[in-house]
Amino acid sequence: MMYNRVNAATVAELRGIVGAENVLLADGDAEMVERYTHDETVGLRAMPEVVVRVSSAQQIADILRLAQRERIPVTPRGAGYGLSGGAVPVYGGIVLSTEKMNRILEIDRENLMVTVEPGVITGDIHRAVEAEGLFYPPDPASLDSCTIGGNIAECAGGPRAVKYGVTRHYVCGLEAVLPSGEIITCGGKLVKNVTGYDLMQLLIGSEGTLAVVTRITLRLLPLPRVQVDLLAPFDDFQAAANTVSDIIANRILPTTIEFMERDSILAVERLSQKEVPYHDAAAHLLIQLDGNTQEAVDADYELVAELCLKHGARDVLVAKDRRTRDRLWEARRLIIEALKHESPVNHMEDVVVPRAEIPALLRGIKEIAARHGVRIVCFGHAGDGNVHVNVLKDTVPEQQWEMLVPQVTEEVYRLTLSLGGAITGEHGIGATRRRYLPLALDEAQIALMRGIKALFDPHNILNPGKIFP
Ligand SMILES: Cc1cc2nc3c(=O)[nH]c(=O)nc-3n(C[C@H](O)[C@H](O)[C@H](O)COP(=O)(O)OP(=O)(O)OC[C@H]3O[C@@H](n4cnc5c(N)ncnc54)[C@H](O)[C@@H]3O)c2cc1C
Repeated sequence: MMYNRVNAATVAELRGIVGAENVLLADGDAEMVERYTHDETVGLRAMPEVVVRVSSAQQIADILRLAQRERIPVTPRGAGYGLSGGAVPVYGGIVLSTEKMNRILEIDRENLMVTVEPGVITGDIHRAVEAEGLFYPPDPASLDSCTIGGNIAECAGGPRAVKYGVTRHYVCGLEAVLPSGEIITCGGKLVKNVTGYDLMQLLIGSEGTLAVVTRITLRLLPLPRVQVDLLAPFDDFQAAANTVSDIIANRILPTTIEFMERDSILAVERLSQKEVPYHDAAAHLLIQLDGNTQEAVDADYELVAELCLKHGARDVLVAKDRRTRDRLWEARRLIIEALKHESPVNHMEDVVVPRAEIPALLRGIKEIAARHGVRIVCFGHAGDGNVHVNVLKDTVPEQQWEMLVPQVTEEVYRLTLSLGGAITGEHGIGATRRRYLPLALDEAQIALMRGIKALFDPHNILNPGKIFP
């Protein structure tokens, strides 16, 4: 791909669009630009030539028109909390940051909708709507850091996906700027809409490669009145996995069923210097149930606790108040950071299988780890089939590690696909998984996707180097 460099005239034009204070140059403002060189993916960095901090759709339209004319790559960025390198400017050029577009524009109580700008932190949406007795369910573990624009681009999930689904199930309307600079509006405050092809759903999960999302309308639910959290420690890793499928098979739909292996819990303890209950158990399940009456939730949790004990859980701890609940969830939210602390070089996968295949997936991963003599720690949203597979470098020598990662990755992917799964459930293909796309999708589908990309972005200026091999 041939792109032009950002020159003095382009910088002057960018300053005219967003104001000089919102243009950061790699040459002049290197220290401030550093944070835009990476996301949370381990080991991936690239320097942009310029960072622009935008505050309106019109500014974005002007920038994209300029970038298209000058053939300069543009990488949209929310908070840079992604885990597939989506916001990393692998071809340099312009990083377009939405951090200043952080207003909640309207909470519409009559239509049960909230309209926001893309740079709003997801947790701020939760708190704002919950204060009104309303509920926005998608809850990525990064919710106090990531933006809703990034969630739309990745179609983020979270623990509550078991019962409530993922980001795309809540989006009703989007405004977006195309690479040509045109501004489009899809959907609105509508629960139903079948007018033509569903471009809104196409943009969700498109990883910032088709358009820049500038306004989002989300559907809300009434806030459930009762919530109970359970922590079940198991001495047998496989028994915990079997319990996950058994709960679902018993026609109970918890809000969450999170799975945490012993090594992840011990890593959290080492990082937080706080003891996690039953830290020596082989695996923990963290299960949340919600509903509108105490009786209904109690009936469900008693059955879930019974199933856990039947499968050999050592105990079932119950948290009915916020303090105890926060303590249980704190450990879960810290895992990614704790594993990085444990082994600064590590490799995370994000595979998803039909829920009933969770036991087979976890068993297979253990076999792969044993075969390669490497530590693999699994945790994640087992209740919806989505497991984060962390390969830790520990003391593996550098050269061996370089060869090992692609081998282990491919074996984990082949196992996942053989179980009817997909290679990423919520983190996206981004820059890090693109070479594996042909393993996961057939040629006809990849060709259709390339055609769609070319139609939206004929000069390939918007987030190049992502998704496609
Ligand atoms: C500790 C930790 C826990 C996590 N837990 C979860 C989890 O439970 N579930 C989950 O799904 N993910 C999780 N993630 C991954 C990550 O938080 C999500 O992918 C999140 O959606 C990224 O949002 P962001 O604002 O940081 O996006 P960024 O990293 O800035 O960008 C991600 C992608 O979105 C594009 N983008 C950003 N804004 C726009 C826009 N306005 N228009 C078009 N494209 C845009 C970028 O170009 C890029 O391709 C976790 C990450 C960490 C570090």
